[in-house]
Amino acid sequence: NTVFDILTIRTDFPILNRKVNGYPLVYLDNAATSQTPQQVIDVIVDYYRNYNANIHRGVHALSQEATDKYEEARLKIQKHFNAAKSHEIIFTSGTTQGINLVANSFSTFLKPGDELLVSAMEHHSNIVPWQMLCERTGAILKVIPMNEDGVLLMDTFKDLLSNRTKLVFCNHVSNALGTINPIQEIIEESHTIGAAVLIDGAQAAPHIKADMQKLDVDFYTVSAHKMCGPTGVGILYGKEEWLNKMPPYQGGGEMIAEVTFEKTTYADLPHKFEAGTPNICGGIAFGAALDYMNAIGFDSIASYEQELLQYATQKLTMIEGLRIYGTAKEKTSVISFNIQGIHPYDIGTILDKLGIAVRTGHHCAQPVMDFYHIPGTVRASFNFYNTKEEVDVLVEGVRRAKKMLL
Ligand code: PMP
Repeated sequence: NTVFDILTIRTDFPILNRKVNGYPLVYLDNAATSQTPQQVIDVIVDYYRNYNANIHRGVHALSQEATDKYEEARLKIQKHFNAAKSHEIIFTSGTTQGINLVANSFSTFLKPGDELLVSAMEHHSNIVPWQMLCERTGAILKVIPMNEDGVLLMDTFKDLLSNRTKLVFCNHVSNALGTINPIQEIIEESHTIGAAVLIDGAQAAPHIKADMQKLDVDFYTVSAHKMCGPTGVGILYGKEEWLNKMPPYQGGGEMIAEVTFEKTTYADLPHKFEAGTPNICGGIAFGAALDYMNAIGFDSIASYEQELLQYATQKLTMIEGLRIYGTAKEKTSVISFNIQGIHPYDIGTILDKLGIAVRTGHHCAQPVMDFYHIPGTVRASFNFYNTKEEVDVLVEGVRRAKKMLL
């Protein structure tokens, strides 16, 4: 009773035919990076075969072609995220760079004693740049706590908000737990006291189509490689009024209006934040990845993935001694778990021998692991190209690992 033709979809992903250690690959590490469909691979090959050139400054045909395709991709991304203006879409190397950009440029608005709020379930990339910012500016980082289910304590969050709060940052979906956070409420509450909000959309974007204007969010970051695109490219959405007020993050070519040794003036948005030759092919391929996912449809993707999540949760919880971390009602298709008395790494190693790719460890979210007093978890994360049969293989593998290790 799947909502779309899963077998046809799987034929789009050549890598899914691979064998690993003699077994058919069961790829369940989608939260780390997703696989790439042939349609996107073709776009990458086409770029290097036919129109590889530097953009924005060449008069020659190839450069024009590459520029047009790159800017077309920006428009696709704008449309996908429903940003009001295309120059609110800044190409980056990924979520991490998007956050670092804001953490650097936002310092101009901060003074000692200002407060920044971070959620308890952030990826290190949404913690460390802000700690570095606090060191530079004397601002103070405060934490929005969560409960055992992996749900943020919204009452405490509201208590933490004050006229000292300048910026709030939180992921839309937690990579370690799968929790979907109530970002609309976080944004609205933060705005009542005039604080800006940055949402790390890295884990949400592959599953949920976020609407920048409806959310009224100030900054939103994503990585293409988690949504069927290549690595090394992503975007930062920023509201025009913030981007205009913020100084550039990096200096270099492409981001200037005029340079003399006395004074340099900066280019308009989005170029002010895009110093140097970007990942041109990556940006174009990101556009193609969005085309691919939108052709399937995010509603279909989400409902099928929820089916997989329910099915896998039900099957895994039948294994005695297995605990799932992250039991929020609103979740994406991520299951983080441990089996009592077994180190997650050992389970992951045995699963790998069976061709099953999961992630083990702290998932770059050590504070979450500290909260549960564990060294890490085994994390299985499902995408729309996974099947119930693959869930069965995972469950059987986990049972086998348990038998071998206990
Ligand atoms: N935030 C979250 C929630 C993530 O899951 C990740 C990737 N694991 C990142 C940020 C960082 O993304 P990237 O490494 O693509 O910059």
